[in-house]
Amino acid sequence: MQMEWIRNLIRKKLQDGRLPRGRAMRFWGGPGAGQLCDACETPVTKDQLAIEDFSSNATGTKPLLVHAGCFQIWDAERQSLFPPWETTQGSGDNPVNP
Ligand SMILES: [Zn+2]
Repeated sequence: MQMEWIRNLIRKKLQDGRLPRGRAMRFWGGPGAGQLCDACETPVTKDQLAIEDFSSNATGTKPLLVHAGCFQIWDAERQSLFPPWETTQGSGDNPVNP
């Protein structure tokens, strides 16, 4: 199933830092121009919607550019791998792995 390998790739990139773990603060959507998707590494063609995230600009790197579908997977995986409540409190509880 195609979505499954994309999800696995995005999860791997989140874990090794190739995809940002922070919430996308400033982003826009528009037709692609053949750029490579930072998530699935296939081109975003002009009949597909690209999401460009400018908040990653703050770190000096180029804006993140992903398919709209990859953006949704990234956002979901980011929140499941790095829930905000686990990073903000240090209660000593072990995180529960699904
Ligand atoms: Zn993609």
